[in-house]
Amino acid sequence: MTANIKIALAGNPNSGKTTLFNALTGARQHVGNYPGVTVEKKEGVCRRQGVTMQIVDLPGTYSLTGYSVEELVARSFIIDERPDVVVDVIDSSNLERNLYLATQLIELNVPIVLAFNMSDVARHRGFVFDIPKLSQLLGVPIVSMVGSRNEGIDELLKMVTEAARSGETPGTCRIRYGSEVEDELARIEAHLDPQHDLVARYGKRWLALKLLENDKEITELHHSPEVLAAVQFSREHLAAVFGEDPEIIIAERRYGFISGACQEAVQSSTELRHDMSDKADAVLTHPILGLPIFVGLMYLVFQLTFTLGEYPMVWMEHFLAFSGESLSAWWPGDPGPLHSLVVDGIIGGVGGVMVFLPNILLLFLAIAFLEDTGYMARAAFIMDHIMHKIGLHGKSFIPMLIGFGCSVPAIMATRILENRRNRLTTIMVIPLISCGARFPIYMMIIPAFFPNHRGLMLASIYFVGILLAIVLARLLRVTLLKGETLPFVMELPPYRLPTVRGLLIHTWQRGWMYVRKAGTVILAISIVIWAATSYPKMDAAALQNMTPEQVSTAELQHSVVGRIGKTLAPALKPLGFDWRISTSLVGAFAAKEVFVSQLGIMYSVGEAEEGGSEALRAKLQADYTPLQGFCVMLFCLISMPCVATIVITRQETGSWRWALLQLLGLTALAYVITMAVYQVGRVFV
Ligand code: GDP
Ligand code: MG
Repeated sequence: MTANIKIALAGNPNSGKTTLFNALTGARQHVGNYPGVTVEKKEGVCRRQGVTMQIVDLPGTYSLTGYSVEELVARSFIIDERPDVVVDVIDSSNLERNLYLATQLIELNVPIVLAFNMSDVARHRGFVFDIPKLSQLLGVPIVSMVGSRNEGIDELLKMVTEAARSGETPGTCRIRYGSEVEDELARIEAHLDPQHDLVARYGKRWLALKLLENDKEITELHHSPEVLAAVQFSREHLAAVFGEDPEIIIAERRYGFISGACQEAVQSSTELRHDMSDKADAVLTHPILGLPIFVGLMYLVFQLTFTLGEYPMVWMEHFLAFSGESLSAWWPGDPGPLHSLVVDGIIGGVGGVMVFLPNILLLFLAIAFLEDTGYMARAAFIMDHIMHKIGLHGKSFIPMLIGFGCSVPAIMATRILENRRNRLTTIMVIPLISCGARFPIYMMIIPAFFPNHRGLMLASIYFVGILLAIVLARLLRVTLLKGETLPFVMELPPYRLPTVRGLLIHTWQRGWMYVRKAGTVILAISIVIWAATSYPKMDAAALQNMTPEQVSTAELQHSVVGRIGKTLAPALKPLGFDWRISTSLVGAFAAKEVFVSQLGIMYSVGEAEEGGSEALRAKLQADYTPLQGFCVMLFCLISMPCVATIVITRQETGSWRWALLQLLGLTALAYVITMAVYQVGRVFV
């Protein structure tokens, strides 16, 4: 039985294609022209071990973008003639540059074998390739060879026959272009008619990509007006965000893909790095220096967020207090339940979340800056090794970072993760990262019980959260969300100066989610909580001879929330919590920061002003031990994420199952851990 295989040889000029072609075909060659153009076409036949191979030597090109006749000829040959295997001959002594063509061949989604030719020269220049790793990252078989000395040719032929037999392709989505470009690709793809013969010929993703790149040949084909309009919209949008033409961004991402793969799997004994990006990467992704630099930068970001955020936060507080007061002053007639609903319920509840908006916007701005300059890709690269040990991917790190601001946009940011199991794991553990709303709880408790170790305690509670997130993620990855994480390329796109517009768009997109959360879920919950803390009302007679503070305490105890709190109290006793804390925890389910104001009411300490919080701290000190204080922080950290988080988890995972698992699982975990800490702690303290 004789198999017949069609092979196309592609490669950059001078990579050794003709040398290989001659070695394979010997005398059985035919030289002609590609139809209609004066580009030389060499064809030949090679017979080995009962396999007949028809080989075409494609014109040498650096790319397949379609700017030159050679590129167009090579591209249409692969698309229209459908060779069984494309062998990309690569000058491996000049790997990164030669791989650019490989990325485009990969996208054509045909079976490919990479021939790392000139490996003698590469070795001489001090390069060491981790071939199995590179092959895994790029998703194609690779063979090392020296064409001019006939070395590696047998192995190449073996791989070619195997590739032709299996017909395996690297997959169209191997190279990702970052969320902005991917969003636009999806938009264009959505407009492409699957029945259209262009789609059948080229494939949706490739067609969308070429349209976005403004590929001349592809753009001039017959497209529907909707498709062309979508393309124009997407191109303009990307140009506005990046301040560059989309084709430049796309090319950069391809280089980023290559650069990431090479950083991972190529070692060079002699430093051959030359351009600015490479020089910066030599330091920023350095195996030893990289991590401390990254940690230092993150520290700076948080420091900046909190110090700069202080000013607008105070303005925001003043503004909210002012709105409440002016409304009260303007209110016609006696302030009744409606007044209470608006001022205490809505302005108080929604305002409690909006107060953190400046902080959160600053954090998002800093993150957008790090993302848009290209540094975040390096951070993910550095974290990749560590994250792999947890069973996650380096990119999971970015949503987790956003989680320090607010879990809601953090969970939405997990969309950058391609692997579903990775994504689900990340979503499940994000609530363990202390969000901005936990901060007021810590700031209430720490000064009251640990006045001399404020920084240490704050750092520890954040650290406990991170540690738990790591442990839980690891646990999920070996149980519910078991499955291999295939290594794939961590892109390292070149550094670039972000555009102001791009920064603002990115900051706003995430900030808007936060505002929307305040405006919808939190608004609704605030009303419910307000009602549950105000009703049922007490008999007016019972409240006589009480100070206004005592009245609110008594009313809260009498209310629905107070009753739930009292009912729950016995169950929370092993954790060191009394009915006051239990009641406040019920409120905290709506939004974590509600805990503080509820505790204030429980202790009849008016509004949580400066003097108010001091008074509350004094009462806490009198009633609880530092161990109990710590347990409250621990429980607030781990237990049930706020309602908005549960809702967004439902939305992003597409099922209530994960949302409920998150809610119940984390609450159970909080219960067990807090109880253990309290019971063990009591023995020692
Ligand atoms: P093409 O432009 O891709 O067709 O490249 P050629 O086959 O014409 O090769 C360009 C030059 O590289 C020739 O001088 C070859 O002898 C040389 N060459 C080809 N393969 C190798 C190799 O593996 N190692 C070395 N050192 N030289 C090679
Ligand atoms: Mg040649």
